[in-house]
Amino acid sequence: MSSALAALGTGLSAIFGERWVTSESRRAQFMISEGHHQAIMPDVVVQPHTIPEVQQVMVAAARAGVPIVPLGVGTSLEGNSGAVAGALSVDLSGMDRVIEVAAADMLCVVEPGVTREGLNTELRSTGLFFSVDPGANATIGGMIATRASGTNAVRYGTMRDNVLGLKVVLPDGRLISTGTRARKSSAGYDLTYLFTGSEGTLGIVVEATVRLHGIPETILSGVWPFETLGGAVDTVIATIQSGIAVARIELLDPVAIRACNAYAKLDLPEQPTLFVELHGSPLVVAEQQAMIAALGEAAGGGTLVMSADADERRVLWRARHAALPAARALVPGAVTWSTDICVPISRLAEAIEGARAAIDAAGLVAPILGHVGDGNYHVFFVLQPDDVESWATAKRVNEQMIAFALSVGGTCTGEHGIGIGKREALVAEHGADAVELMRSLKRAVDPAGLLNPGKMFL
Ligand SMILES: Cc1cc2nc3c(=O)[nH]c(=O)nc-3n(C[C@H](O)[C@H](O)[C@H](O)COP(=O)(O)OP(=O)(O)OC[C@H]3O[C@@H](n4cnc5c(N)ncnc54)[C@H](O)[C@@H]3O)c2cc1C
Repeated sequence: MSSALAALGTGLSAIFGERWVTSESRRAQFMISEGHHQAIMPDVVVQPHTIPEVQQVMVAAARAGVPIVPLGVGTSLEGNSGAVAGALSVDLSGMDRVIEVAAADMLCVVEPGVTREGLNTELRSTGLFFSVDPGANATIGGMIATRASGTNAVRYGTMRDNVLGLKVVLPDGRLISTGTRARKSSAGYDLTYLFTGSEGTLGIVVEATVRLHGIPETILSGVWPFETLGGAVDTVIATIQSGIAVARIELLDPVAIRACNAYAKLDLPEQPTLFVELHGSPLVVAEQQAMIAALGEAAGGGTLVMSADADERRVLWRARHAALPAARALVPGAVTWSTDICVPISRLAEAIEGARAAIDAAGLVAPILGHVGDGNYHVFFVLQPDDVESWATAKRVNEQMIAFALSVGGTCTGEHGIGIGKREALVAEHGADAVELMRSLKRAVDPAGLLNPGKMFL
């Protein structure tokens, strides 16, 4: 522990008591890495429960020159919330109250530690739901900070589209509000957008106003096998280009299906497959089903069987959300490196077929799947931790995939953020001048560079 952190502890430990966490056994619980980056034990964790407590921590840390790492539940995949030596990790998961549900305005106000599943449980009786669904049961604060998305984004948007306003504690302890409850505003710079995706480098989100959506009258979901990967991807492209408002359209290649079959005890044919969901009135979903079935038939799709059975739907999406641990379980002792490239929809087939060819040529185990309706696909490299050669090969394949994405106007990260893993790619994507402007913004808000240092920028 640094002397600055130890000095900070003499003041704050008296205030926070057991919520000032220094014991090794308790700090070890925060040593999380769901991605391919090394898990690091934080030097100290503090667990504020109120906005004034967060402000108190920020003011004291600023005075002592101690870096701060905001933490939700640590499910991010690019080392985004990983501990930093000499830093104080601020665990926001205890700020987990749903403050208000304003059903008439289809929004709610939550503390940052509310999880997406917890929020939807609270909303159960309202006829409304919160749509953004990363595979993990992440916190709303973490999802805002990474600008997360999930299977529903093709219809309901990402966090960027679903955050109306924020309360943020700045590095000097000031509390600011951004946004409004109105659906639109032209009042000044859009600070809500600035903080959404800032990965804890500009401030700590202590309250969020988020959009809710009506639970649809009819939900149909189904599994749709294809003869070829290209046929499945072409069907997705045609569906989106036809303006059919699918609620979810997820691709799983045969390796991903094999992983899900074994992990989630499914029995799906090991073929390129789409998991599809439609939302609307019975008439609308029937019409949508007929339209996409016709598009798929022309591309080598099997029969599209859809069901309104809620249990079947739960099994299906639980399996999809568990695809990352399912991939990891393909090879005993392996870890996964999850990429999340996103390309314009018209270039999706080239991107995915190119990725598959490069993975196969390299002899790597790596399912491809993803939120393809958004042009967003994941390659989960499944690697033994000490297989240096395979890691170097995966790095090369990943760089090729990113280079292709950037050459066609795509992005190195559709939803996981930059963290420590994509800092070079940030420059390749935006150019040195744009990244320098980002750094200037960071310096303006956090002149001492205390918030989540080492993340986002090299
Ligand atoms: C199995 C699995 C599936 C996943 N699927 C998806 C997916 O489909 N889509 C997707 O987008 N992601 C996915 N992820 C990644 C992950 O769930 C998201 O990145 C999520 O947004 C992280 O939330 P968290 O609460 O775990 O945040 P953490 O990992 O704790 O933190 C993430 C970032 O947010 C910052 N932060 C946390 N809370 C605050 C706050 N209150 N104020 C300011 N900064 C804060 C941290 O400093 C860090 O930079 C998946 C992860 C796993 C393990």
